[in-house]
Amino acid sequence: MKRCILALAVFACFSQASARRVQVVATYPYIAEIVEKVGGENVRVHALARGDWNPHTIVPRPSFIAHLRKADLLVINGGQLEIGWLPPLLNQANNPKIQAGTSGLLDLSGAVTMIDVPSSVSRAQGDVHPEGNPHYYLDPANIPILAEAVAERLSEMEPGSAAVFSANLKSFSDSWAVKLSEWENRLKPLSGAMVIEYHKNFDYFMRRFQLKLAGTLEPLPGIPPTSRHIEGLEQIIKNTHIRFILQDIYNPDAAARHLSQKYKIPMVALPHDVGAVPGAEGIVTLFDEIVGRLTHE
Ligand SMILES: [Zn+2]
Repeated sequence: MKRCILALAVFACFSQASARRVQVVATYPYIAEIVEKVGGENVRVHALARGDWNPHTIVPRPSFIAHLRKADLLVINGGQLEIGWLPPLLNQANNPKIQAGTSGLLDLSGAVTMIDVPSSVSRAQGDVHPEGNPHYYLDPANIPILAEAVAERLSEMEPGSAAVFSANLKSFSDSWAVKLSEWENRLKPLSGAMVIEYHKNFDYFMRRFQLKLAGTLEPLPGIPPTSRHIEGLEQIIKNTHIRFILQDIYNPDAAARHLSQKYKIPMVALPHDVGAVPGAEGIVTLFDEIVGRLTHE
């Protein structure tokens, strides 16, 4: 009898502890990392996409809907990065807690200033970035801003844990500031360097560290390179000292490789999310890896 009561008490205790945890679903691994840092023990977070997938064209798995069904909070990148895959899943999951317009949906793009926002509403044909460039989180200075937005939302949902979220945010942001100045120092020698990139993944990163974009291999975001477009790029290469050709890890690299060999310009493959390549297993090591690959360290 005594043992039974003890078992019941332990069970009650455990179920109470798990009930306090906010169930969070993040669309991408970098978001899950931020939520974990800020939420700590008080959240349970699951990332839908893997970091080595093309973030624009995620092929959903059946488990995605199950995760969305039990979520208290869904945190997305926004800026239409998820437009090609998330809306039908949200419909199917039919979870009223995380629908648009509720506090259970947090769109992180609202916390930052987007670049390349088109001045006209007409969407250029095929451009996958009609609302501006959604790869804002690759500016490491934006990461603490996103963490703050997460802390704010979690505190609204769980006011009793607000002090914990706020303390977690402070310790994360403080250690991030140290890393940011380290990355700034390491990248200083590259300031002013001209680069070509395949997709407009690193525009925010380049703006932060004063790298200059000379052109992209894609004629428009999401449109594969054409021979006519490559000819135009070759004219730029002949007239400019191009330091790197940046390639992401999920698009075909044949065009970048061709230009790299023909004009003896180093091609650098860069990870775009946590888990994109071995060595980029966390949000800090993601940027360590990017900086390391650019500086050959
Ligand atoms: Zn993109």
